[in-house]
Amino acid sequence: MSKKPVRIGIIGGMSWQSTQSYYHQINQQVGERLGGLHSADLLIHSVDFQQISQWQHDNNWDALTEALCHSASLLCQGGAQAVVIATNTMHKVAPEIEQVLRIPLLHIADATAKILSRDGISRVGLLGTRFTMEQAFYIERLQRHGIEVVVPTEPQRERVHSVIYQELCLGVVKADAKADYLEIVASLAERGAQGVILGCTEIGLLIQQA
Ligand code: GLU
Repeated sequence: MSKKPVRIGIIGGMSWQSTQSYYHQINQQVGERLGGLHSADLLIHSVDFQQISQWQHDNNWDALTEALCHSASLLCQGGAQAVVIATNTMHKVAPEIEQVLRIPLLHIADATAKILSRDGISRVGLLGTRFTMEQAFYIERLQRHGIEVVVPTEPQRERVHSVIYQELCLGVVKADAKADYLEIVASLAERGAQGVILGCTEIGLLIQQA
């Protein structure tokens, strides 16, 4: 008899451009592992990113905590057995969500660290929003797994951050942004990074492994 699938709840919409990547990739992996017409048992609660982004830039993390806890509780009520936050940045409030959640929160930095360790990468470059590149919540979580993190310089961080909010979250992909990102990745490699985390899900729209 086959095992009953775990129902995963996704807190999405931050931005919706990247939520579709999570939906696509989770289903693709379930299909590859189980074969046939198998697909994931999923619930998505997609929020309005205008409000979220405003609170982020106003430094209103209390409002953001409340909004994401509400979102997580809606997913629980819908029968989710585990929750993921479909954005790196909003993992800033992951500890608060974990406190109110009766089911596991699968943390994006733990999953990332696991893959880095598997691939023998102990010093990694990090691209993401300013919040992710400059604050402790993501970097310290990686460090706990023994991973050393290299972040871009201040002007590079400014460029990476503004491309995310002003272009990628709107679905706009430009050649000059791609060239700048590739240059920044090369400079992280020069500083000893053995790999780079695309620590903002929209970045995958701009650059990939290839
Ligand atoms: N999706 C992005 C991330 O992974 C940025 C959007 C946000 O601020 O949540 O961090």
